[in-house]
Amino acid sequence: MGIIVGGYARISDVGELGDGRDGEEGVTRQKEDVHDLVKVRSLTLHRMYVDNDLSAFKRRVKRPDFDELVSDLETEIIDGIAAYNIDRVTRQPGQLERLIDIYERARRPMVFATTAGDYDLSTDDGRFNARLYVMIANKFSADAARRVARQKKAEALQGKPHRGVAPFGWMDGGEKAEPFEAELISKAHRDILNGKLLSEVHAEWVELEVRSRQTPPGRNITYTAVRYILTNPRLCGYRVYVPQAEREKRGRIDLSEFVLERSDGTPVIGEWEKICSPDEWRAVCDVLKSRAMKGRGRKKGTTVTKRLLTRLARCGECGGGMQSMMYTRGTVSFDRYGFFYACLKAAGGCGGVSRSGPPVEEHVEGLLLGHLRRMSKALRSGTSEINPALVKARVDLDQVKAEIAEARQLRESGEFPLKEFVREIKRLDDRRDVLEIEVATLNVSGLESSTTAAERIIREWGTYTTPMKRAAIERFIEAVVIKKQPRGGNHAFRSDLIDVIWK
Ligand SMILES: [Zn+2]
Repeated sequence: MGIIVGGYARISDVGELGDGRDGEEGVTRQKEDVHDLVKVRSLTLHRMYVDNDLSAFKRRVKRPDFDELVSDLETEIIDGIAAYNIDRVTRQPGQLERLIDIYERARRPMVFATTAGDYDLSTDDGRFNARLYVMIANKFSADAARRVARQKKAEALQGKPHRGVAPFGWMDGGEKAEPFEAELISKAHRDILNGKLLSEVHAEWVELEVRSRQTPPGRNITYTAVRYILTNPRLCGYRVYVPQAEREKRGRIDLSEFVLERSDGTPVIGEWEKICSPDEWRAVCDVLKSRAMKGRGRKKGTTVTKRLLTRLARCGECGGGMQSMMYTRGTVSFDRYGFFYACLKAAGGCGGVSRSGPPVEEHVEGLLLGHLRRMSKALRSGTSEINPALVKARVDLDQVKAEIAEARQLRESGEFPLKEFVREIKRLDDRRDVLEIEVATLNVSGLESSTTAAERIIREWGTYTTPMKRAAIERFIEAVVIKKQPRGGNHAFRSDLIDVIWK
């Protein structure tokens, strides 16, 4: 009966081996090769082990029949392997070592037969040849993988859509937009540029039972998936190319880092239907990025202020910024108002002014809506709703202001050497001045878009969340000055003690 061997055949990735033995036809040829080889060598074939359409080069890929082959060698069901070529058995040095280990320990004659010759894995020479060959094959595979990647990139450069499942926002095939999803994205973009938080958009989508392509059945779409969808460069037509190595390296990737560029530095534009303009896409990415950055710099223990007039309320006595604080639980003021704005000595103010929060906020809301109505009546024309340059400048300005505040905080806590602090604060102040001028200029030149924005804000005010209201208020109001309440008399809210400074 002689020596019993397992025949092994594998269909590789396209172009990996290039020996004409891939695909359905190729595996038939490999099997024929093995049968011929077994006959010529007077071996007995136990059975064929075939792994389909998988790469022997990629370590992650599972090869069930290869594993069975190894296990059958170990348990002495078979005494060897017959294959067209050692390439076909493995291109992974680690897998070859598993085989060598079995052959070395064996107390029976074993063979490793290929149409290109035998490898005697019980001798140093045989092992050396096998290792060398697998190492070279491994290198060729890596080259072939790069070749496939280059081919995909070439297609990408021609603006061809990705193969596979269409991304969120498009119908199968990826060419035509899916109307419902596209509208969801557009609305979320508008909302975010108007101050809505990504977490709020996420909550809405969960409520609407929106699902991403990757959402498992019975689960909600994740926050990260929403961010991924809304910042996908594909939305504005930009072609993205993420090399396979990058995809394997990390989990979620920031697609905006992988926009394909032509040699002149301009983005490659795809052939599919666009869902937003490049400016809008860029603005959304910038806004989300800058918010994330601000969140990171925050120290533990400091409150993230969410009041409507945070950053806007100013003390009428000393001009300092006012903080919001909660009244003591159980007091009448707590039950009626909940919180108040105050100029605090601890924050560098005079400590002389404080005012219950809600009446001030209601008053300012009323003033803003009145202001917007007058504005939209006075200037009724306009096209673009969003001025991306303005959005960008405002985001940058907020960022610089946050950095200034942070630098001061660090200085106060002694973590910032004076000399460096002075230099840093000078740089930031200069930057802030430049940006403030830019914002003011854009506000003026953007009057038309402000008008349409005004109409939209009036219409949608009832649906606005606090961050959106705050963004709207900050768009039109520079500061809200709260003046000292005279001693005596009742404590009824007096609107004449509130001065709104418009932009
Ligand atoms: Zn003050």
